[in-house]
Amino acid sequence: MTLPACPPHDPAKPRPVLPPALPGPLPPLASEAQLQALEGDLLAAGLAPLRQPQDLARGSADAFVYSPVLTPLLEGCRAQMLVRVQTVDGVLRVAAACGRHGVSLTLRGAATGNYGQCVPLAGGLVLDLTGLKRLRDLDGDTGVVTAEAGILLEDLDQQLHAQGRALRLVPSTYRSASLGGFIAGGSGGIGSLRWGFLRDPGHLLGLELVTLEPQPRLLALDATAARAINHAYGCNGIITSLSLATTEAVAWRQLVIGFSSWDGALAAAQQLPASALLLNGLCLLEAPVAAQLPWPTTCPPAPGQEHRLLLLAAPGAVAPIEAWLKELGGEILWQAPQGASRGVPLRELCWNHTTLHLRARDPGWTYLQLLLPQPEAPCLEALKATWGDALLWHLEAVRSGGSQRLVALPLVRWQGAGALERLIDQSRQLGAVLFNPHAITVEEGGLGGVDAEQVAAKAAYDPAGLLNPGKLRGWLERQAGAAVQALA
Ligand SMILES: Cc1cc2nc3c(=O)[nH]c(=O)nc-3n(C[C@H](O)[C@H](O)[C@H](O)COP(=O)(O)OP(=O)(O)OC[C@H]3O[C@@H](n4cnc5c(N)ncnc54)[C@H](O)[C@@H]3O)c2cc1C
Repeated sequence: MTLPACPPHDPAKPRPVLPPALPGPLPPLASEAQLQALEGDLLAAGLAPLRQPQDLARGSADAFVYSPVLTPLLEGCRAQMLVRVQTVDGVLRVAAACGRHGVSLTLRGAATGNYGQCVPLAGGLVLDLTGLKRLRDLDGDTGVVTAEAGILLEDLDQQLHAQGRALRLVPSTYRSASLGGFIAGGSGGIGSLRWGFLRDPGHLLGLELVTLEPQPRLLALDATAARAINHAYGCNGIITSLSLATTEAVAWRQLVIGFSSWDGALAAAQQLPASALLLNGLCLLEAPVAAQLPWPTTCPPAPGQEHRLLLLAAPGAVAPIEAWLKELGGEILWQAPQGASRGVPLRELCWNHTTLHLRARDPGWTYLQLLLPQPEAPCLEALKATWGDALLWHLEAVRSGGSQRLVALPLVRWQGAGALERLIDQSRQLGAVLFNPHAITVEEGGLGGVDAEQVAAKAAYDPAGLLNPGKLRGWLERQAGAAVQALA
């Protein structure tokens, strides 16, 4: 175990951002006797638990390497056993065995998370849920879809398209990520310009949940009760299926627009989302970022001085966009229907795929996630003036709190934790809101503070605290508080 156990946070002092600190001790690793008892139960349930070191290494990592802060903390963390299930009954059997033998359980979808969300901090069992992949129901009247948690987003979306419907929000990992992992560990992505973020009311309309107890319960939660499970990293229940609102399917067109002027490109990124044009994604890349991306096969490569705006637009929006762009100094360089182009689609050049491509060329890049203040330009300019070429702009348009906003996922040259901390401090002073991708807990990674509903749900559905230990700060603080009271 490489993680430091830290004393409880003193609320009178500002919380440190880096390095990530855990407020309480983690449970011990499972003993050999516990593991053997667990293995026996899993075999009796017809499952195939794995204990070989190469299986455990494969089943213990996600995409945390994007963070040089998290990498040294997480790369040594290992599950003690790994198992995959295909059915809800299998999940119930696994939960019962862990509950009976007191072994911690960490859930795993496609393991594309960036913050080590599915990395087991305290050993125990890792449960792979990608075998649960049925679309159970699509309501023809309401468009509400109910599907199992392990289904891949692309598979689900293709089945919806056959019925004229589509997922509202998908991550740029659309082709590889699971539905349950997106709800439990993701936040938004393509579609966020129209539909905001996954935790906005109206997206998640209910879910089926298995509790972690010696006699687990299979619960059906409505939208209100499901809120506490949304973006909780699988710390407070095992999701087996989810009901989500969908939208009408649109044959989006991919557009690449070139700008010689950054101010013109920024103006387009501000104005287009506020128009009546139907858009599903808008990504703005500063010239040095654009120059390093693998563009679709027939799209001209980016010369070093050209900023690029990537749009997913409804077919009827293309002509008005073209006319409008001329006023802003932009030119459509390439366009193709989504799903019909060769090479990398625009969906895989935006959101954190931008970071992926730059890191593939130079792993010295990392990134941040900032909701920019309005107007955006003074903040962008002040940060650029301080950090120069060590900070490259990548912006995405989103709807946040009902308003059109821009978020930045800037590429940040890694110069050590101190420099990153200074950049974060300066961004906050300039009015940006940080969603820290260099943090381990649910709270530091996005929510900002403890969500009492999430903690209450953990007490109700995982009373022994066995699910994904160490990731829910509110629970750790509650445990630390209870321990202090017991001593008093
Ligand atoms: C290149 C790249 C681009 C990305 N782009 C985006 C993006 O645009 N938007 C975005 O939001 N994210 C993005 N991500 C992060 C990640 O890909 C998504 O959040 C993805 O949806 C996670 O799904 P997964 O199946 O891989 O989940 P995992 O990584 O397997 O799990 C994520 C979390 O969910 C929990 N979990 C998994 N299944 C269940 C379940 N059934 N019940 C309860 N808890 C569960 C896990 O324990 C873990 O805490 C990106 C990552 C990379 C590497």
